[in-house]
Amino acid sequence: MVRKVLALLGATGSIGTSTLRVLKEQSQYYSLALMTAHQDWQKLLGLASEFGCSMLCLTGIEDKALQARIRQEAGEIKLYFGEQELLHLLQDLPYDIALNAITGSAGLKSSFSIISSGRPLALANKESLVMAGHLLAPLAKSKSLPILPVDSEHSAIFQAIGTHPSSEIRKLHITASGGSFRDLPLENFTGIKVEQALKHPNWDMGAKVTLDSATMFNKALEVMEAHWLFDLPYSQIAAVIHPQSIIHSLVEFIDGSLLAQMSSPDMSLPILYALSYPQRLPSTLVTTDLLKLGSLSFREIEEERYPLYYLGREVALEGGILPTVLNAANEAALRLFLERKISFPQIHELVRRTVEAYPNTPCPDLEEIVNCNTRVYREVLSGR
Ligand code: MG
Repeated sequence: MVRKVLALLGATGSIGTSTLRVLKEQSQYYSLALMTAHQDWQKLLGLASEFGCSMLCLTGIEDKALQARIRQEAGEIKLYFGEQELLHLLQDLPYDIALNAITGSAGLKSSFSIISSGRPLALANKESLVMAGHLLAPLAKSKSLPILPVDSEHSAIFQAIGTHPSSEIRKLHITASGGSFRDLPLENFTGIKVEQALKHPNWDMGAKVTLDSATMFNKALEVMEAHWLFDLPYSQIAAVIHPQSIIHSLVEFIDGSLLAQMSSPDMSLPILYALSYPQRLPSTLVTTDLLKLGSLSFREIEEERYPLYYLGREVALEGGILPTVLNAANEAALRLFLERKISFPQIHELVRRTVEAYPNTPCPDLEEIVNCNTRVYREVLSGR
């Protein structure tokens, strides 16, 4: 494979850390043109010297005195601050592929900047497609650029589909671990503590994704993500609980055959595949011992246990601005839960109330989406 130059957005987060693990193993194939973080500048500077990256952007540091101090510590490394600078860098810098691992709605504009600059996007930021799939998917298509899924489920589907056209697909089956409370009696849900909700049984991930996995909101986002990535209607996208997290998703073809992608749960694999696509590179980061797997099981997603998943599916069908409202309300509700201001079941109640009160706009543009996101987030946080 020819060497590729990578821009890594969200380098200090969970996906960023896994990506750097992949790059360390594959250093003969990849170099870094740019790394970004929100605020964790000390970690970012450390990573820059470790990985020989000479350009950094910090999107969440506005204090001028602190900026000056970081510049001093950065020495020779070129340093930029703020989202506007990042969007310019993504347009102008020479790089071959960008991996967007920014958490939440903050990653939206970067995805557009990467695609409109004519570079392929390896996407770990599902909000980009949830909020603006109706804009981003056609933009990528018009430029004949792939959106390469970094989400484990979508990577599995992407791998299983191969070159088959969507007309040969009957259904996608997205698997879900069931999160931290898959076996907790329903009557105990009101008493769920923040610490319990932040523990995931199978995956080691960031706080937001772990909470979204406990409520299965994550799976609703992934259904929407699959809809835009694979251009299939919602009636052909199902989800099922698979507690072992070994099968990362399945594609059911029109002849009744099911193809699954399997491996130990580790984000290194979907990251490596997105970066090396259409090739595969040798790697020993993830090994899967079939004899140690035990049994693989599946169960239905209970509506009472995971009401946010079902709400998310309803909203997906409505489309328009509502997925943005849903997502912003959820981000705010999670924050309230983390600040111990609302209980775990109230996350769903708050999100539902917000979505139901909001008038839909059928085809919002990027500015409307960004503004709506900010407004709803603030309103939910302030309890209005
Ligand atoms: Mg996932």
